[in-house]
Amino acid sequence: MSLRPWTCHGKTNQDLVDNLFKAGIIKSQSVKEAFSRVDRKNYSGEPSNSYEDAPQPIGSGQTISAPHMHAYALEEILPTLVSISGTIEEKKRFGSTSYVGDELKILDVGCGSGYLTAVFGRLVDQRGPIKPLSKGRVWGIEVVDELVHKSYQNVNTQDRDLMENRTISISKGDGWTGLPGEGPFHAIHVGAAASIIPTNLMMQLYPEGGLMVIPVGENESVQTLYSVERRRENDVFDKNDFKIKALLGVRYVPLIRPQQP
Ligand code: SAH
Repeated sequence: MSLRPWTCHGKTNQDLVDNLFKAGIIKSQSVKEAFSRVDRKNYSGEPSNSYEDAPQPIGSGQTISAPHMHAYALEEILPTLVSISGTIEEKKRFGSTSYVGDELKILDVGCGSGYLTAVFGRLVDQRGPIKPLSKGRVWGIEVVDELVHKSYQNVNTQDRDLMENRTISISKGDGWTGLPGEGPFHAIHVGAAASIIPTNLMMQLYPEGGLMVIPVGENESVQTLYSVERRRENDVFDKNDFKIKALLGVRYVPLIRPQQP
């Protein structure tokens, strides 16, 4: 896959989104609409450069990822959400007794500024573009206290309806542990590079096709973005239940291993 990253700068949020679309990084109307509905300026640490296709500092030594990486990850996840939302509807219609969530569930690990969490929220909120089930919930977790606060404040100020209607929840949490009480998740996005794919997150994927997008690699110059699809229900971890695919070379901040108290 040849991305044309770093070239999609815009003068306005819509201009940035349009340029990502023209470059073929945003491919679908659903993702385009979701990005159009969240203004990156409200989340980036450098409001004067908000519409550059580049990462920006958000405090605590962390960065908001470049727009082309966010767009790429969302496009990778979208087909899963669309196909699973159809499955949920069909299962409900035919009265299936196997696990049927009544909403799409998404986990955003390392929510940082809250920007991508808000874009996910717009993808699955009541007015969202995914049919037939334009309804879902997004959990953002973040390990750095100041950023838990910042991401909560940002979403609560800039996209408040998503908090009020409980589309988005943000809390302190560790990506190595995930959020076992809220899963299984139909999609998991990890915004920081893990040394190995966390088993806990794999086991929190929805067993019939849940998908995770995660950067992996210890060294910033040798990281790969992977997709991990869970294909079977199984109480114990078995790597054969997962389809793991390398997508492209990337550069992310590390997924921290927090100190145990
Ligand atoms: N996706 C966000 C931030 C990406 S930067 C955005 O675009 O704004 C990666 C984020 O992961 C940082 O905020 C960092 O604090 C967080 N992080 C690092 N290790 C983590 C861990 N173990 N659990 C949860 N969050 C973590």
